[in-house]
Amino acid sequence: MRKKVVAGNWKCNTTLQEGVALAKEVNDLVSTSDVVVILGTPFIHITEVVKTISNSAISVASQNCAAEPKGAFTGEVSAEMVASTGAKYVILGHSERREYYAETSEILNKKIALALENNLTPIYCCGEPLEVREAGEQNQFVINQLQETIFNLSVEDFKKLIIAYEPIWAIGTGKTATTQQAQEIHKVIRDAIAAKFGQAVADGVSILYGGSCNAQNAKELFANPDVDGGLIGGASLKAADFNAIVSAF
Ligand code: PEP
Repeated sequence: MRKKVVAGNWKCNTTLQEGVALAKEVNDLVSTSDVVVILGTPFIHITEVVKTISNSAISVASQNCAAEPKGAFTGEVSAEMVASTGAKYVILGHSERREYYAETSEILNKKIALALENNLTPIYCCGEPLEVREAGEQNQFVINQLQETIFNLSVEDFKKLIIAYEPIWAIGTGKTATTQQAQEIHKVIRDAIAAKFGQAVADGVSILYGGSCNAQNAKELFANPDVDGGLIGGASLKAADFNAIVSAF
């Protein structure tokens, strides 16, 4: 059976001290062993957050990694470095990185490969902008994103991924996809995976919803048969809210 996953994406928020305090609160609140809980912290927080976490349900993710293994790339943090801190996951392809840092599918393919080589699990993000949704072209847009990136992986590597569907118009806007919209596109994604890699692989991959998911709407969203959890931005910065989402299955 595929895993239920709730991953927080702290983005560029919290000082180191605030981040460690937040991680400690989440560590103490989460009481499930049924859900994989992931904290996506800033790079410089990872080592301390890993040390802070004693709850076996919780792991740590970076929010990015370099597209090169090492070398003269000032300011970059490699997948190998991330893995050496104790992080187990890396969020890749977030729409903010695609949009503000010009991350193309070509760049993402390098990052995904390096993450996998270093035994990090990519949380691969996809999702359409508002104009694509308004034109009713979201399914093909997301399938194209998958075809340009993770559909190039071997089946063995593909099985290691977590996928997050995040409609850009819902991220940080307070606008959430309706439960029907979420289910419909998650099913489209799962069907595309089945067509490419087979039904068993499609049934095994966790597909998370992201976009203004919060303590109030998580239950309804997670009740969908093809929604296996959430990638949570704003609501992951409050331990009680984040724990309520973890408890929403
Ligand atoms: C995100 O950035 O991945 C996200 C889902 O943000 P928010 O929950 O704040 O919409």
